[in-house]
Amino acid sequence: MPYDPNNIFAKILRGEIPCKKIYEDEFALAFPDINPKAPMHVLVIPKGAYADHQDFTIRASAAEIAGFEKAVGKVAKMAGAAEGGYRLISNCGANSHQEVPHYHVHILGGRALGPMLAKMS
Ligand code: 5GP
Repeated sequence: MPYDPNNIFAKILRGEIPCKKIYEDEFALAFPDINPKAPMHVLVIPKGAYADHQDFTIRASAAEIAGFEKAVGKVAKMAGAAEGGYRLISNCGANSHQEVPHYHVHILGGRALGPMLAKMS
């Protein structure tokens, strides 16, 4: 997926659209999902312009990848999810239903989340 600099998360990173910042460092920004699917639903996005997980793992530097992954762990702890447990989701590619084309990780928690996916029919 080519990177679109006008996607909503790029606008949040540039400060053109507000977000309730939970955490920020040189590699990542975290804020609550606007349409939460669990009592705790936080998005963590890298500062760099990467469209999805594949793009990030191929083009990002080792420092960016390590910094981002560290930030995801910190945010999960800060948001109170680490104790009860949480789920990470990152949608990537046609089958995944990714809606925003800037790489992001969803952190979901705050209740028992049930099985990972609905059973195949
Ligand atoms: P995706 O389907 O791309 O993995 O997830 C995109 C997520 O971004 C969705 O869960 C959606 O609710 C969230 N989202 C879309 N627009 C905004 C926004 O303007 N602000 C915030 N905080 N979340 C958004």
